[in-house]
Formats: sequence, C-alpha cells, structure tokens
Amino acid sequence: MIPADLHERADFKSLSQLARGLFELGDATRRGSLNLPYPPSIQRALDRVVLACLREGRTPPSSVPELVAWCTAPLGARWPSSALPGFLSAEATLLDLRRRLPTRSCAELAAYGSEDSAERSVVHKLDELAQAASTPAMFAQYRDFLIDRVAVTNDDARGRSWKPHIWKRVHDLYQPPAPAHAHDGLTTCPTCGLLATVEHGRIAWCEGEVCERGLTPGPAYKKGSVRVLDSSLRLFLSLPGRTERAVMRRLAEQGVTGTLLPGGLGAYQLSEPVLGRSIVQVFDRVEPLLLAARLSGRSDLLAVIPDHLARARPALLESVRAALPPELDVVVTTQTTATEGAPQHA
Ligand SMILES: [Zn+2]
Repeated sequence: MIPADLHERADFKSLSQLARGLFELGDATRRGSLNLPYPPSIQRALDRVVLACLREGRTPPSSVPELVAWCTAPLGARWPSSALPGFLSAEATLLDLRRRLPTRSCAELAAYGSEDSAERSVVHKLDELAQAASTPAMFAQYRDFLIDRVAVTNDDARGRSWKPHIWKRVHDLYQPPAPAHAHDGLTTCPTCGLLATVEHGRIAWCEGEVCERGLTPGPAYKKGSVRVLDSSLRLFLSLPGRTERAVMRRLAEQGVTGTLLPGGLGAYQLSEPVLGRSIVQVFDRVEPLLLAARLSGRSDLLAVIPDHLARARPALLESVRAALPPELDVVVTTQTTATEGAPQHA
C-alpha cells in the first residue's frame, strides 16, 4: 500500500528533485542557455545520490553529465537502493536513451512534491486561462484547443483555422520543438495524440511510450514551421483529455452529464453517480504507485484509466488498486467499464 507520508520521505524528495532537475536541464538546453553551474535542483540531486552511494560502498557518479547518463539506464541497474524506494519500477528510466528527453516516468515523478511541480504548473496555467475567460464556455474552448492541438504550424496560424481570440490567449504556451524533435519526421501519434517521429513512412516512436509502433502516421510537420505545446500540458492535459472527451460523450449518450470542476486538471461533477461515484476524472499515467499516491487524498471519485493504456500495461489497473488504502472512497477502472457503468435510462 502506498505510504501516506510519501511526499515527505527523503528518498522520494531526492528522486522527484532529480526529475525536476532533468526538466530544467532540458529547458535550458532548448533555450541554448546551458551554462555552469547546472540547475541547483540537479546539483542537489547529485549530492544526495553521491551520499547514498558512499553509504552503500558503491562508486558514485562523478559529475552531473555522469548522473544524467545514469538516468538513461533502468533505475534498478545502477541506483543505490537507499535512493531507489519502491514507488517506481526497477525497469523505469528517467531519460529516453536515444533522444535524451525526460520519460513519462520522469514527468510523473516531477509532478510531485513541490509548488513548482509539473502537474501544479499545468493547474496554474489552466487557472490563468479560466480567469481570462469571460464565461465557463469560453474557458472550455481554450481548454479544448490545448487538448486538440499538441502542435501548431505556420500554415495553421496563417489559415486562421481557429478563432483569433483563442489563439491570443494560448499562443505563448507553444514553443519550438526540442532539438530531438526538430526535424522533418515529426508528427502526432494516431493512438495517443502526442508527438511522434516517423521513420521509413511508419511511426517509430511516440511520447506516449506504450503505443504500437509501425502505424501509418498523419502528415509530418515541416522543420522550422511547427511549434509544440508545453510538455507538461501535453502529458497532463492533452493526453488524458482525448480519453476524457470520449468518456464524457459516451456518458452523455446514456443521459449522464458532467460539469467541469474549477481548479484542477479535469474532474467532472456528474449529474448522477456512475459506479457509485459522483466525480469522474481520467488519469493517463504509467507509474501505478505514483497514481495511487495522487488518488489517496480524493473521495467520491471514479478514476478512469484509458483503454489503450490498460491494454498496453495489463498489470497497471490492479497495481493501482492494490496500492490504495481499502477505506478510500475511490473506484479505479477502465474507460470501457466506466462508460458501461452509467445508469441505463428507459
Ligand atoms: Zn502514442
């Protein structure tokens, strides 16, 4: 079961601090501004890992570049056990070896434990958009835009395929792609909707990490003419947003409507309970224990795992359920089960 004090534990803080440091390192590299010293968070993470190694009589990483190299290997391979508590799988890596970009495990780890966490920053950005919107319907348009478009092109901007007032509010959330994505083979994944790369006319890699390879891609973006949504918004809003839309549509067909609750990533108050719970939210996360930790403070919640994720990671659902305290008022289930669980109206 997930410990209630997870966020306060030194081993958790150390690893989540490292995850945030890897994101800062990536941001600095993208801006071309990476100078010594390295971001303080990653320097502190190095100090902690070195200390843990020395305590266990292991050879520590000698520098930040060596620590970053460690992050491209499965955590179980090199990490000192006292710095690797059981909340991440030993096979997880923090950086994609080929692209040297943070993985989803890294992003989910970075989403915890501080005011500047990745998930908190998405909530702040959504709050700002909600305050700028004159009505809830207007906010929904801003939010839908970000869910629908993980990338925009110069042609989109010129062709005015969207309303100018929406673009005015969201354009600063899009930046040039990371160097690893800035080539002509960038597209979006037909399964998860996140960024993907094409090789020999087929999807070779996608940010979702769990999707099938070899699918036929949509049109590729031209190098230099595309901007991509902030990575945290892609992972914590756009990714679950696609499933969220499918779930809410399916529930509406069965007579259950939802009202988006303010101040979060995407929880809906239902017009009547589904599977005995009045609030529904989709979670597209690959680390089951981190998701369980995220759910542990919630109540009256139906937490929905996308079908495509449940198929790709068959053990995930049971791992989340097993990690939750039995008294918790949260039901975790798949997209299909949630939408079949709606009350049937005559
Ligand atoms: Zn994908």
